Amino acid sequence: MELLDYCRSLPKVELHAHLNGSLSDATVLKLLSAKKQQGDDFSASAEHTHTHTHTHTHTHTLRMFRILHSITDNLDAVRTITQDVIQEFASDNVKYLELRTTPKNIPNKMTKKEYMDTVLEAAVEAMKKSNIRVCLLLSIDRARGVEDAWSTLQLAKEYLTHDVFGSLVCGLDVSGNPHSGDLKDYLPVLQEAQKCGFKLAVHLAEVSSNTETLAVLNSGLVDRIGHGTFIHSDTGGSEELHTVVRKQNLPLELCFSSNIKLGTVKNASHHHLGFWKKENHPVVICTDDKGVFATSLSEEFFLCAQTFHLTEGELHSLCLSGVDAAFLSQVEKQRLRQEVQKELDSLKGKLACQ
Ligand code: 5GP
Repeated sequence: MELLDYCRSLPKVELHAHLNGSLSDATVLKLLSAKKQQGDDFSASAEHTHTHTHTHTHTHTLRMFRILHSITDNLDAVRTITQDVIQEFASDNVKYLELRTTPKNIPNKMTKKEYMDTVLEAAVEAMKKSNIRVCLLLSIDRARGVEDAWSTLQLAKEYLTHDVFGSLVCGLDVSGNPHSGDLKDYLPVLQEAQKCGFKLAVHLAEVSSNTETLAVLNSGLVDRIGHGTFIHSDTGGSEELHTVVRKQNLPLELCFSSNIKLGTVKNASHHHLGFWKKENHPVVICTDDKGVFATSLSEEFFLCAQTFHLTEGELHSLCLSGVDAAFLSQVEKQRLRQEVQKELDSLKGKLACQ
């Protein structure tokens, strides 16, 4: 099998995917067409921007998110995107998906609870149609302030005792513009979240921010790091940060195309996957925003394999490290591990020599 086909066949685990950033062009065009039918004249320019620009500066990406959010501002659209995104990951042979999204309150359209209920209902429906297990992380947007974070945690707590959604909500994510706000202000919220039993995935050192990153890591609240680009000293981090991450053995969610397209990493061969792989540190390959960065999890595996000359065994280990880092109970992890291992065994020896 050629490398890309082989990556498509791998049984994969996706742990870092933002719902609204994961929309395929097909889904976006479907939603734009629905907006047009409702007589929304904004849609023509949005369509133009979506289909005709593919640069990825931070400003452009923020603009992309504004457009994406404006076409997903109603519950029908939220249901559609959730089902489409899950179906697309399942078609890419993703066995387990942790999808993250920011609950949104849009006056006269939806409350945070309605938004999240709709995502969860759609996830349940999508799982019935495909062989994929999905869990949800509620995202705290660091640009929206601490009050908003408390209300997101309050909503997450409401699901703890829910008979269906209780097992689907597995944790919280902290994301949003890394230049906005200070993560240290959010530590009391994260402390309370941990007390309630939520696992925490935090975007850290996505841009150079040593003081903030060290304070958050020293809190001992983080279960997984999103990006972690500026941690080791070669990339502008520090020995101290590197040591803390090693000591806590915190898995890193690595988003190759996202980092390269946004320019936080100089080029493919400078990606920090190379550094952490040499250290044998737990890493998981993820898409971040497969729609915005025009990628898929298979393509991310392919790019990493090509850049770092990964062997078949290393690709298999990467699939299994996704299982190890999942926010699942030990029993569920064991079940997932068996399923993934079985498919990996059937692929052994099938990768053509690179
Ligand atoms: P949503 O939470 O609306 O489903 O997904 C889009 C949101 O995810 C963005 O508005 C942003 O807050 C967050 N997001 C997506 N990609 C990134 C990223 O690469 N870094 C950070 N820090 N946040 C992101």
